[in-house]
Amino acid sequence: VQRGMGAYQRIDEALRLPVEPTAPPAPRDRTSTARPAGPSLPGEQPALALHDVHFSYAPGRPVLRGVSLAVPHRRYVALVGRSGAGKSTVFALVARFYEPDAGAVFFDGRPAASLTREECRRGIAVVDQNTHVIHGTLRENIAYAVPGASEADIRRVIELARLEEVVDRLPGGLSAVIGERGSTLSGGERQRVALARALLARPSLLLLDEPTSHLDAINESALTTVMKDISQECALLVIAHRLSTVQHADHIVVLQDGRTTAAGSHEELLSGSVLYRELAESQMLRPGGEPYGAAPGQSR
Ligand code: ADP
Ligand code: MG
Repeated sequence: VQRGMGAYQRIDEALRLPVEPTAPPAPRDRTSTARPAGPSLPGEQPALALHDVHFSYAPGRPVLRGVSLAVPHRRYVALVGRSGAGKSTVFALVARFYEPDAGAVFFDGRPAASLTREECRRGIAVVDQNTHVIHGTLRENIAYAVPGASEADIRRVIELARLEEVVDRLPGGLSAVIGERGSTLSGGERQRVALARALLARPSLLLLDEPTSHLDAINESALTTVMKDISQECALLVIAHRLSTVQHADHIVVLQDGRTTAAGSHEELLSGSVLYRELAESQMLRPGGEPYGAAPGQSR
């Protein structure tokens, strides 16, 4: 009975979650007019684009006040800004947990509003800060969203997510049981399992929210090559408040007070964005320290 009560409480929690409101029906005519006439190659339009997006969770308290960015196919784009700037909110809108109050989100040039939520999410994978590991083998944890995945596919994502040493370390390798009552993984290892799981679905757009909060197990230069490798496979949008994570991105977008205020390469932004330079300087003051922004106003 005790065990049953625990399970019942978890099921009850899930059942009490609000039901996602049904998306408006997809007006097909808008979908077709969104693409220019004539031959169109896949990848011609950016995988993701936001055009002047405005959003507030509560009326009168705007969180996003003009966000524009584009993530072309096979490109690595970073979104940086202080804690509370609205970075994770951008992901929530892309995943369509919320709808913009004004402006629009486009997938491959098609307005999200003309697609069902299912259609929008089909090609997207998100790895956020709350990574989940189920009680099961490492292989099950990587493959549970793609049960028919081949051995070669699984090996490919293990390599991409730099999980080889975890596979080597655990007794039984991919058959080792992890999660509740199994071997415990560090935060960084769990994050890499989540990354491998996301990559196995072969998304066309991958969103990573603050990967260095846990990917600290991978050193900085290795992380740069991980991101480059991943962006060979899909469009990659990475949120970070630690600039060292993203300084090698193809393109960096600065989010400040809910607005995208600057964009460019690391070097361009160092000279062209006051906020970016401030962030970079405060990071240099705290080498290897906790993410700045975690303690605003504190300085050494
Ligand atoms: P970041 O990821 O850049 O740290 P967030 O997008 O998480 O910022 O948050 C931006 C602002 O929106 C913050 O002021 C935060 O308190 C608020 N916020 C975030 N999520 C919610 C929510 N679900 N409901 C109400 N306010 C929220
Ligand atoms: Mg966030």
